[in-house]
Amino acid sequence: MTALNEYQLAALRTASIDNERPLDALGLARDALGLTGEAGECADLVKKHVGHGHALDKEKAAKELGDTLWYVAVIAARLGYTLETVAQMNVDKLRKRYPEGFSSAASIARVDVAPAETADSVDSKPPSYFFGGDAP
Ligand SMILES: [Mg+2]
Repeated sequence: MTALNEYQLAALRTASIDNERPLDALGLARDALGLTGEAGECADLVKKHVGHGHALDKEKAAKELGDTLWYVAVIAARLGYTLETVAQMNVDKLRKRYPEGFSSAASIARVDVAPAETADSVDSKPPSYFFGGDAP
């Protein structure tokens, strides 16, 4: 087992996931909001440093990154992915998109995004809770 998956298991010890309904709307929304909240806490430290002249508290920033990672691990589990798989998917995407390293041209070209992936491969049916359980 990789260190990432070991971390994910450790994170899940303190997660609140209904294993019968890992994608329940309230839990998923709580964790997604938690993810952005923790990322915002890290961004706020940088804002205060860059914009307000505060000293950059690197340890506090690292802890906020850890909080962010916790939510990433939990959301990945809700989606049925290990953290290792999520990380590998990202590495694969970036290797395909930027085979020679980052460039603006490659960023614009986005060769890893096939036209069919942008619309057809996405589940466009709204979740049942969107219609109060009476989705057509
Ligand atoms: Mg935090």
